[in-house]
Amino acid sequence: MSIKVENLTKYYGTQAAVNNISFEINKGEIVGFLGPNGAGKSTTMKMITTFLTQNDGKIFVEGIDTEVDSLAVRKKIGYLPETNPLYLDMNVVDYLYYAAELDGIQKSNVKSAVENVIEKCGLQDMTHKNIGQLSKGYKQRVGLAQAMINEPDVLILDEPTSGLDPNQIIEIRKLIRDLGKQKTLILSTHILQEVQATCDRVLIINNGEIVADGTPESLQSQFKGQVVIELTVKKDQSTNREKLLQEIRSIKGIEQARFEMEDSISWKFHLSCKKGADIREELFRKIVSLNLVILGLYQEETSLEDIFRKLTQN
Ligand code: ADP
Repeated sequence: MSIKVENLTKYYGTQAAVNNISFEINKGEIVGFLGPNGAGKSTTMKMITTFLTQNDGKIFVEGIDTEVDSLAVRKKIGYLPETNPLYLDMNVVDYLYYAAELDGIQKSNVKSAVENVIEKCGLQDMTHKNIGQLSKGYKQRVGLAQAMINEPDVLILDEPTSGLDPNQIIEIRKLIRDLGKQKTLILSTHILQEVQATCDRVLIINNGEIVADGTPESLQSQFKGQVVIELTVKKDQSTNREKLLQEIRSIKGIEQARFEMEDSISWKFHLSCKKGADIREELFRKIVSLNLVILGLYQEETSLEDIFRKLTQN
């Protein structure tokens, strides 16, 4: 077991940002904390890295209790905070030497530690550039190199691809996957594709609680048999859209229905249905009985995105 979290709780004032969560992470797993902004992902990560202390509960990193020996825990962990604080006026290699010394790496080992992370993070061509001159993707690599300099067993990355362009995102995700082959790795994201692309397992967090835990595939199979419907209805001046939504919601077999978008001629609705329910005929009759025109009615299996929305809607 690499990380064990038991009944962890953190309050800011009277608000519980993390509310009695428990989970375990095995060595070598890449786990994604997925949740909307404000769900409690960063707070959980900060407690695991010992930057924050919990109000209740226990955290063990590689068997060490964070409250008993936070320094020993920090030695086991590499942490890339969301803000990725870097010294922009320093060049890459000087900064990494500095980070190595701060981390207490023995003088005789500093050179090889720096060379090692430069190679692992693909920074060979950037070593003498000032960090301020680097692209955001390369700055992120420097942040990762800094987090890994003391060869930690556990890497914790808070929103590692936030603010990157699509090409940089692909590169950083590949790097994360490669790093995850040797380390326990936790990353946080509010982007579903991120966990699908990089993680073995996902913990979905909402309002400070874990609402789902499993592989992306197992989560999807839990909801197998459930369908969603994209319904497009021609706009009508004399129809109130909210009232129409209420009418749709009254159909038996619908679990959730929401308005999605409109264009110049139509309204689009997204409906998720109960397991085994086929509401298409009744939906058709209902819309026709309201003297409205259906422009599209498209049914498909629940995707991971639907599951995420369902679990994190407040
Ligand atoms: P996430 O990382 O999932 O976006 P956070 O852990 O940053 O979520 O925040 C969880 C909740 O705690 C949010 O409601 C946020 O506003 C609140 N919060 C976070 N940091 C602080 C702080 N330093 N002081 C007060 N409230 C905070």
